[in-house]
Amino acid sequence: MHNTQLEELFEVPVPVSQDAESLLNWAAEEFSGSIALSTSLGPQTLVVLDLLHKMGKRVPAFVIDTGFLFPETYQLLQTIEERYQITLERAQTRLTIVDQASQEGEGLWSRAPDRCCAIRKVLPLRKRLGGLRAWITGLRRDPETPSRAGVEGIEWDVANGLFKVNPLWSWSQGKVLNYAKQQNIPLNPLLEQGYKSIGCTHCTAKTNGSERSGRWQGHEKTECGLHYPTLFKNKALKEAQK
Ligand code: SF4
Repeated sequence: MHNTQLEELFEVPVPVSQDAESLLNWAAEEFSGSIALSTSLGPQTLVVLDLLHKMGKRVPAFVIDTGFLFPETYQLLQTIEERYQITLERAQTRLTIVDQASQEGEGLWSRAPDRCCAIRKVLPLRKRLGGLRAWITGLRRDPETPSRAGVEGIEWDVANGLFKVNPLWSWSQGKVLNYAKQQNIPLNPLLEQGYKSIGCTHCTAKTNGSERSGRWQGHEKTECGLHYPTLFKNKALKEAQK
């Protein structure tokens, strides 16, 4: 989409170029004090974190901590905090794992993963984004995942009512990993063990297939619910702007 169309739609000036640095620079200035980075501690958001750090942009970053992350992921969280001398805020539900089991029954993730994700991911995200004007993600276009095939650099997050900035929207996974390697960014060691996209222990498996094919195996589900509906299809945008 052309810049003029974007500016008409969003009613804010948008950067001339939509490369990662331009998007981050624009977002950090335009939404200063009212923007945050959501990191899953996957390679993409760690690259974004590194770019922000190198650009000298102070943007708060948070992790959605479901309580079900891998030990390797919790260890990586600490490593990243030490490397960048930052605190990664934990966004989490107040419902403990024990209380969830007594309230919803054991193994909610296997019976009703959408409900489990809503409790442990989507609602904590919504709460964290409340009051912000924009958030930054590590989303990139992925032709193999229909819900991510149309990712743009700047979107309107219909569900949460704020701008969503995806600086790596046009990057390939290879480019992400090359950047991480060149900059010596610590990555989750599970990536070298056959896990391609790493979320909760209960819903993440090794895979030889596409990047997200190891998530929620045995279910139709391919997304947690954090990232839709957001794409700026005109209808959704008009409804959001009413
Ligand atoms: S990924 Fe699985 S365990 Fe984690 S919140 Fe979603 S359903 Fe629950």
